[in-house]
Amino acid sequence: MSDAAISLDTLCKVYKGGKQALTDVTLDIPRGQIFGLLGPNGAGKSTTINILAGLVTKTSGKASIWGFDIDEHPRNAKRSIGIVPQEIVFDPFFSPYEVLELYAGLYGVPKAQRRSMELLRAVYLEDKAHAYARSLSGGMKRRLLVAKALVHNPPVLVLDEPTAGVDVELRQQLWEYVRELNAGGTTVVLTTHYLEEAEQLCDRIAIINHGRVVANQPTRELLAMAQEKAVSVTVDRDVADLPQARCFEKIALKGPRELVVTYSKDKVNAGEVLAALQSAGLGIVDVSTQEADLEDVFLNLTRAPAAA
Ligand code: ADP
Ligand code: MG
Repeated sequence: MSDAAISLDTLCKVYKGGKQALTDVTLDIPRGQIFGLLGPNGAGKSTTINILAGLVTKTSGKASIWGFDIDEHPRNAKRSIGIVPQEIVFDPFFSPYEVLELYAGLYGVPKAQRRSMELLRAVYLEDKAHAYARSLSGGMKRRLLVAKALVHNPPVLVLDEPTAGVDVELRQQLWEYVRELNAGGTTVVLTTHYLEEAEQLCDRIAIINHGRVVANQPTRELLAMAQEKAVSVTVDRDVADLPQARCFEKIALKGPRELVVTYSKDKVNAGEVLAALQSAGLGIVDVSTQEADLEDVFLNLTRAPAAA
């Protein structure tokens, strides 16, 4: 039995019609983290999550949630996870409050332990508690889905592209709530296209591409994998012409005396870059390096074509 929050072992999915969506996905998602599952469209993120949700049947391999194998202990596995699906589906005739009560009932949560109003307050829907679900905006519906996923107080919350169609301000509120939940002990798994969000939120990130896991690392390590590095240099005079050198990938002027040089850190180091500037006649006053962002890593790892 795995002590991971979610454990996937050589998971494969071939859809009817022959599309192989997942190939040997092996992944342990540690308890207590905010974990990001990143990948371009069609990578297999939703397929993975829908297998955990019991909405898609896997072709082979194993999956367990909070130590419960989804085949051997499906009820316990289901009770351990709350899933916010990518697609919004609702019965338009229920109010948000009724939706939460209904789901709490389906999970067998006793009336005294239900937290419907508390959950609605947490997702800023208290004033819509008794409105028709069909009168809610897209962002409100998504927040209601988050509340719905939490009615049975699961130790793992999974959000599949939660910010699709959610405006910036609400997105911030949603992330704040996700952080709060995590601080309270909930393991959070999210898929997103917003790399900078994964970068800010996630302790650990796995990247999936064409149904295969191509990276699975602490966010910090993943960032360090980016090969492009930039150094920002303040020089002792105004720069009229940009100096050129073979070790520069790119050079740009940020201010009259500030240059940003991008270089490939697997080929050269910052010392060589600075030496090249000096030999172009520039005196160096100040230097700072910039970390590459996740986008660089992501693009590098997902540039590889699909395996035949
Ligand atoms: P993601 O969520 O990363 O965008 P998906 O898991 O939705 O990716 O899809 C992975 C691949 O499986 C895609 O090529 C997609 O077209 C295909 N796919 C998804 N759902 C189905 C389905 N019900 N039937 C056939 N192919 C599907
Ligand atoms: Mg998806």
